Parts: sequence; C-alpha cells; structure tokens
Amino acid sequence: MQSATSGHSPAARPSLVWFRDDLRIDDHPALAAAAQAGPVCAVYILETGDDLGRPLGGALKWWLHHSLTRLKADLADHGISLILKRGDPRKLIPALTKDLGANAIHWNRRYYAWSRPVDAGIKAELTDLGIDVGSHKAHVLTEPWEVKTGAGGAFKVFTPFFRAAQPMCDAWAELVAPTPPLTVHNAPDLQSDSLEDWNLLPKTPDWSSGLAETWEPGEAGAQKRLAHFIENALLGYGEGRNIPSKPATSFLSPHLHFGEISIRRVWNAARAAMRAKPALSHDGQVFLSELGWREFSTQLIYHYEDFPQESWKEAFRSFPWKNEPSAQRAWQRGQTGYPIVDAGMRQLWKTGWMHNRVRMIVASFLVKHLLEDWRVGEAWFWDTLVDADVANNAAGWQWVAGCGADASPYFRIFNPMSQGEKFDPEGHYVRAWVPELAKLPNKYLHRPFECPTETLRMAGVRLGQTYPLPIVNHEKGRKRALDALASLKQNTSGDLV
Ligand SMILES: Cc1cc2nc3c(=O)[nH]c(=O)nc-3n(C[C@H](O)[C@H](O)[C@H](O)COP(=O)(O)OP(=O)(O)OC[C@H]3O[C@@H](n4cnc5c(N)ncnc54)[C@H](O)[C@@H]3O)c2cc1C
Repeated sequence: MQSATSGHSPAARPSLVWFRDDLRIDDHPALAAAAQAGPVCAVYILETGDDLGRPLGGALKWWLHHSLTRLKADLADHGISLILKRGDPRKLIPALTKDLGANAIHWNRRYYAWSRPVDAGIKAELTDLGIDVGSHKAHVLTEPWEVKTGAGGAFKVFTPFFRAAQPMCDAWAELVAPTPPLTVHNAPDLQSDSLEDWNLLPKTPDWSSGLAETWEPGEAGAQKRLAHFIENALLGYGEGRNIPSKPATSFLSPHLHFGEISIRRVWNAARAAMRAKPALSHDGQVFLSELGWREFSTQLIYHYEDFPQESWKEAFRSFPWKNEPSAQRAWQRGQTGYPIVDAGMRQLWKTGWMHNRVRMIVASFLVKHLLEDWRVGEAWFWDTLVDADVANNAAGWQWVAGCGADASPYFRIFNPMSQGEKFDPEGHYVRAWVPELAKLPNKYLHRPFECPTETLRMAGVRLGQTYPLPIVNHEKGRKRALDALASLKQNTSGDLV
C-alpha cells in the first residue's frame, strides 16, 4: 500500500477512524471506508470508567503497549499520526470529531454487552450532528445475529452452529480487501497522550522478559506467525494440536484478539493451502473449526450478556464451590504436585500463553479437584494470558466447568496423570517447565508421588521440598467433585448436563 497526499482538496474534511480491537492496517474495513472517502485521522482510546468494560489484565496491557507502538509506526509510514486518548469515548469521540472538523467516523463493530450501548450512543449523537457514522464487520466472519437456527434463534450447540456458519465464513472471507492508499489529513495540532504515560508496562517488578522472548506484537508479527503456521504446521495440525511440547498450533490467539491480522486473512490462508494441497484437507478443516469456536464464543457473549460472569446453566449458580486461597495460590504458582498442571501454569506465567490441551487440564483440576469457582480461574487467566478474551476465556472455562453451552459434562473429570502420559508421553513438556523433575524416568514423571524413594533420590527429587506433594489426592478430589455435583442435583431441578 502506498500513502498519498494528493487527490483531495486541502480543505476536504477528514474521516476519523476509531481503532479498537483491530490494531492493523491491512483488510481493515473501517480504515478502508475512511480512506475511500478522503483524508484520514486515527485515534485509539484507552477506555476507562466503571461501565466501560473490564480493566485490562497485566499481560494484555503489556501486549497493548507494544501493539500500539507498532501501529503508530505503521500509520506514521503513511503519514498518519495515531492520536492516543484515555478516558470515556462518549466524551472524547464527539470532542475529537469537532476538533478535527471530521465529517465521518468509522469503526469496526464489537459485541460486548458494555460496548454496545456506548457505541450506539455515540452513533446517535454524531448522526444528530450530521456526521456520518460507519460501523463495520471485521472481528468475526459471522456476526452473532447472522447464524440462526431454523426457528430463527441462536445456536446453543457448536456442531450445528458451525455447519450453518461455515459457508457464510467462506463467503465473507472472499471479500477480503486491502486498504486503499491512505490520504493524509493535515490535522490541527491535537494533543495526544504519550503511550509511556499510560504505564501499561510492568515496572516493579518487570516480569515481562518471557513475554518479550516469545512474542512479536503487531501486524508484522501476526503475518509472520500466520505464514509460518501455514507453511510448517498446518499439515499434521489435527493430531499435533494435542501435543503441548510441539509448536503445532498457530500461536495466533493474541494477534487475533487484538485484531493485528484479520480473521478473513487467516481463514483464506488455510483455505488457499487446502486448495493447493489436497493432503491438507483434514488438518485444514480441523483448523477452520477451531476458528469456528471463536465465532461460536462471540455469539454466546452477544446473545447471553452475562455469559462472561455467570454460569450459563442456571443450575450451576448454586454450586458449592470452596474458596480456599492457599489452594488457589498453589494452582496459580504451579505448585500443585501434579506435573502437567504445574507445567501449564508455569508456561502461562512465563510466556503469557498456555497450550489448549493444558488449559483444559489445569482448568479441570481447579474446578473439579480443587472445587474452585471457574471464575477464579477465569480471572487468573484474564490477568496472565496475552490472548485473554472476554468471549473465548469465559467459553473455555464454562466448557470445562460443565456449566456452559455445549459444555463437557461436569462429571467428566480429567485425570492429570493419564492426561500427561497420553499427551506428553516422553515428558518433553513437563521437563521444559518443571525442571526440578527433569531427571525422573518417564514412568514416574507424571506421578512423582508414586516413585520409589531410591529413584527419587537418584533424580535429585525430594518430595515436599524440591517439588510439592499433591495438594489433593486424585481419587479423593474426584470423589469430592462428584459428591458436590450429586448434592447440587438434589437441590436443583435445572439442567446439569
Ligand atoms: C479454560 C480455557 C480458557 C481459554 N481462554 C482463551 C482466551 O482467553 N483467549 C483465546 O483466544 N482462547 C482461549 N481459549 C481457547 C484456546 O485455548 C486458545 O485459543 C488457543 O490455545 C490459542 O492458541 P493458538 O492460537 O495456537 O490456537 P490454534 O489451535 O492455532 O487455533 C487458531 C485460533 O482459533 C481460535 N480458537 C482455538 N481454539 C479455540 C477455542 N476452544 N475457543 C475459542 N477460540 C478458539 C483462537 O483464536 C486461535 O488463535 C481457552 C481455552 C480454555 C480451555
């Protein structure tokens, strides 16, 4: 894409693009619409206010800082300066359009319960002032109101949802459109915040070195990840995606969360690879269906506004959760005594990401073995994941806890030892993240508490000292969880499975 400063009279009024969950230039419908019309100005608002969504977690803040740094630089290459503002968009956006003399504003739609009235209110106010407001579809391939059951309602089960959604995804993805050349608006000297002043980066202590080693936030980083995945990991994804020691998934989740790459580009890249190599058809289809879960989760939070905070199955709202800070802390710190759980929690802490299979295992352990409320885990993930996402996170937790739509039943309790042995048979993952167990033989790596004393000694492991004893016995924990479910069954008439 080239930038251009000609073609419009200097007096042409600009369009303002409000960047939100879409920190990219390519295939950006709001930016494209503004560029089509003439000169462009750009703003990002750090929304702060009690009714303006959940404050960002630490890992999200780290990512946002770097992503905005990249976007600012990328827009500057086209001569556009990204205005940064902090506060309430209901005040800031009307003031900005006035100060810029903008005659239009464009944004890409978002689907959170809190954001919809905010966007609608701004739209109504600006429209009354004679300013064109363009809101565009970009974050998903199917908007929550587009995929409907035969009776016209929302799907509650993934498989029929995706059967209906997939042809719509294909059709929408076809419409991918590079942003046209950007025309610069000679903006009046508007005050922009300094990104540094937002203090998004951790300082005391700075825990972000593992994130920096793992990720390249920004559009270029996202495009590299996609290209690398399609070239190297799409073949075999169907099987490989279950092996946490393998880099067999796309690692696109934070890039998709921040909209650094368009979902259409991701979908199309998989589709193009499948067309070019028929051998990819199975793996490609598995990948497309994972993208489908993202669509499904977004429609859940749209149709069920309290889905991010409340068990979707009402019967679970009176579940007898424990609330034991010491158990929660052991889980958060990767000190439960179950190696696959501890490995996952430490991968999360160090890199801001955890493999999907292991997310399911650690979540099941928290909710079932420890009987902790799924929202305790969801909140920890919110603070520590670089891909923490209101829709996908709540959907993931509610799926594991058995209280979500199309969820895994609560009585299905992952055994952390056999999960480890099945998906990390050689122990590469556990050895990488729980190095104090590295010298244990594979036979005991996932169950060190069953290891003979002499073998432990030879491996340099002292249980209870160098590595914790299990904080809960597996069989007892499992029984306690099933008993809790049984007590709930007795006290409620609602749907539990
Ligand atoms: C308890 C729990 C919490 C989770 N929290 C989040 C979260 O906060 N943010 C998040 O993006 N994902 C979440 N997931 C889903 C999934 O674990 C991650 O999307 C995935 O591990 C990201 O890695 P990837 O990009 O390499 O995935 P890939 O396997 O390469 O998948 C490609 C993309 O599809 C989407 N996707 C894949 N699986 C799912 C899924 N189950 N649900 C929704 N979208 C999916 C993601 O956008 C992902 O980037 C959670 C899952 C569980 C079990």
